[in-house]
This record gives sequence, C-alpha cells and structure tokens, in this order.
Amino acid sequence: MFGQLNPGNGIETAGSVRVRLAPSPTGNLHIGTARTGVFNWLFARHHGGKFILRIEDTDLERSRPEYTQNILDGLRWLGLNWDEGPIFQSDRLDLYRQKIQELLDKGLAYRCYCTESELAQMREEQKAKKQAPRYDNRHRNLTPAQRAAFEAEGRTSVIRFIIDDEREIAWNDLVRDRVSWKGSDLGGDMAIARAATSSDIGQPLYNFVVVVDDIDMAITHVIRGEDHIGNTPKQILLYEAFGTKTPHFGHTPLILNQAGQKLSKRDGVTSIDDFQQLGYTAEALANYMTLLGWSPPDSQELFGLEEAAAKFGFERVNKAGAKFDWDKLNWINSQYLHSMPVDKLTEMLIPYWREAECEFDAAGDRPWLEQLAALIGPSLSRLKDAAGMSRVFFVKEVECSAEAVAQLAQPEASGVLEAILAHLDSEPVLTQAGAGEAIKKVTKEKNLKKGAVMRSLRAALTGEVHGPDLVQSWLLLHQRSLDRSRLQAALALKG
Ligand code: GLU
Repeated sequence: MFGQLNPGNGIETAGSVRVRLAPSPTGNLHIGTARTGVFNWLFARHHGGKFILRIEDTDLERSRPEYTQNILDGLRWLGLNWDEGPIFQSDRLDLYRQKIQELLDKGLAYRCYCTESELAQMREEQKAKKQAPRYDNRHRNLTPAQRAAFEAEGRTSVIRFIIDDEREIAWNDLVRDRVSWKGSDLGGDMAIARAATSSDIGQPLYNFVVVVDDIDMAITHVIRGEDHIGNTPKQILLYEAFGTKTPHFGHTPLILNQAGQKLSKRDGVTSIDDFQQLGYTAEALANYMTLLGWSPPDSQELFGLEEAAAKFGFERVNKAGAKFDWDKLNWINSQYLHSMPVDKLTEMLIPYWREAECEFDAAGDRPWLEQLAALIGPSLSRLKDAAGMSRVFFVKEVECSAEAVAQLAQPEASGVLEAILAHLDSEPVLTQAGAGEAIKKVTKEKNLKKGAVMRSLRAALTGEVHGPDLVQSWLLLHQRSLDRSRLQAALALKG
C-alpha cells in the first residue's frame, strides 16, 4: 500500500502558504537552524504566506529560557521577522494529551510496559543475531489482565503508536523529489509519550507533538534540515491516523565543514552569536546563508532578503550538502562593510574598539573616529579585525616590526625623519595638503625617491612597512599628538 503522494510541485496554495521554524531551545541559535529559518522565511515571503515561530521546549531537562532568548534575538538581528508566535510547546501539553488519548481510544496506540533492562536485553539479542535494533512490538496485544498485572507491579508505560511493517510511505519532497520508506525500517511501534501511568498520559515526544502542532497551526509546507528526513515517514503515518492531509515536505541540504562532515560544535564558530561577535553584519550573514544550498537564477551574489525572496524557489535548492566557505562569507561581508556610510561603520566599530581596550571618548573623538573608520574601512572584511588594524592609532608607543627596523637602519632614514620633524616645528598644525607637501619637499631636498621617504616615515610612525594610506595615517596620529614622539623614538632607536 502506498502513502499519500503530494501532487505537483507543492506550491498550488499561493497566498495561503504557512511555514514554521521550530527550534529547540537546547543551545544558542545555530547556523543550521538559522539557515532553515532563512529558507522558510524566503518561501513564505515569496508566496505572500505566513512564517510562524514555534519553540520546541518539551525536553524539560535540556531546554533553557536563555537559549530561547538567544534564538529570538538572533532571528530578529538577522531580519527573519515572524508573523505568528513564538508559540511554546510547553504551553500546549493539554492538547497533546488529548490527542494521545484520541489515538488510544481509536486503538491506534497502546501502552507498552517494557522496562529499560528488558529493552536493553532485546537489543542485545538482536545484535547477536546481526539484526538492526528495533522494538519488537511485544506489548501490542496485551490482554486487560496482563496490563493490570504490570500496573499492579507499579510499572510506568511508554505509549506506542502502531506502525504497520508492510506499509510503504512515500512523498514528493520539495528538494529530493520522490522519497520512500518501508514501514519495517521505522524501528517498530513508535514511542509517542513516555513515563505514562494509568491515570496520566506522561511526557509526549518529539515526532508526535510536531504533527499535532503542524496540524493545529495549519502548516502547509514543512521545510527543515535533511537530518529530519527519517522522521517524516513516521509523521506521515500520524497525519493519516488523525485523518488529515499531509503538508508538503522539503528537506534542505546540511551545512558541511571543510572535511565534508556535518558542521558541528567541534568546528568552533557555529552559533549566530559567534558570527556576530567576529563582526559579520546581519545583512552579509543572511545573504551568505541564502547561498548555502540555493543558487539564484541570475547568479547575482549580493542581495537583501527581500530581493532574494522575490526569486526564491525549491527548484534551485541543491540536494547535495552545502560546504561552508569562509572566503566567500568574508568576501560578502567585506562588500557590505565597504559600501557602508562612514558614520554607520563608526557606530559598528565602537564596540570592537572598546572590547580591544582602545582609549577614546566616543562623543568628543567622534570626528577622529570617523576618519579612522574611513581609513581602515576599505581593508576590512570583519569588524573584529579592526581592533588589530587600529591599535597603532590608539597606543602611545609602537614596537617596530623587523622590516620596520631594517627600513629605519637605511642610511637615508635619519635625515628623512629629522627633516619631517623640522617641518612640524615650522608648521605645527598639519593638514592633508601640508603633509603631502612635506613629503615632496624632503624627497627633493634629500634627492631621494618618494617611496624611500614614505617607507621611512611609515616605519617610524606605525612600526610597520605596510598599511593604509600614509598621509591619512599621519594626520590621524598628528591629531592625537603621537607623530612627533614616534619620529623621535625612531631616531633614538637608530642611536
Ligand atoms: N525541533 C527540531 C529541531 O530543532 C525541528 C523540528 C522540525 O522542524 O520538524 O531540529
């Protein structure tokens, strides 16, 4: 017997599309969950439908309110605004209990009284016979007397939903096309609640509550990570048991690390928080996540979420896993940073300068901070990198790199530095034009190449031989009265 097949491409319900993101608050918002959120959001917006947020907090031991907060904050930061919710599963236990009772009453579910050790022994025996571990449905047909005896012993039960081994369950996946499973591969009658007693239904479990909620919220398309694909046949059987139409399912490719394995905590940076702290902008990260598994029809790579929503469709979502590409993410982020107005960039850099313990007065030094942001902005790919790049403009003294020491040891260096100091004596207020003139004058007077003058000046002022625009750097240091002392220190270094 075949399961219900969804006809067409699954998008015949334009205007009434209802999708949901259903994170479990057992950790901070993960990039995989956020990317699933992006695809759901794009799909909802593309079809003028609704994006619903549901917090799956039925795992009482592992769920934490601070993780819920982190998930809500992260989604808001990314611009993934939701239309309904957040709906908390923990508020809906009565509904789940009622629905479990309904299955018990219909004879589609039953109480299984097996103890942990009986189940463990069953698995051992299966292993010894080289069989896949499964529940062998041994309590499916207990007599009332057997049930009463177990309860008299004080055993609690697991409520199991009957799965017919002979069934084939198939659906047309939005990403993977036709997917089919055998009932016999689903591990036997499935647990839908645990720790039940004769008077209580116990704790409802994941696959069951998801279906109850998706029906209750009239979800039309379930879009989630490929790691859930094995849950889908079980869930389809539950839809059938409740006599409701199944939604469409789309299983999105997993995000993989460089080694081609599923990106996990061990890969270091995986939560949206981590990316935010490194200085990726929300727009760049959302843009990059959109490209993790989807390619736009016109191969445009930079776009906002709204723009992507106009083009989004599952026909361009890949089946294969999406490799996380740091270079691409950095490139996208740099494009956003480079096109950002300098006042906004300054605003975004201030927390990173603070974190790096740079000393400044955010109000009084504002024009100077903006000049600094304008100077380093074109070389930035992440905001956090600004700390290292800006350090030289905040600290009193710099330590010269080996290349800078070598530059300052050149025979012409002392003369250059002395001449620049003399210029500062004669014209104590440095302007952009004045700085350019001074470099030109020294070049001419000392009969040197301009590059040689600039290299010595840069080495003395910044302790490095490479860096952003020299005249601008000098002006910034001058405004903080750091140029003279550095020129003098470089001369002293030469002895
Ligand atoms: N709570 C599940 C998770 O965080 C999602 C379930 C679903 O989308 O069906 O992975």
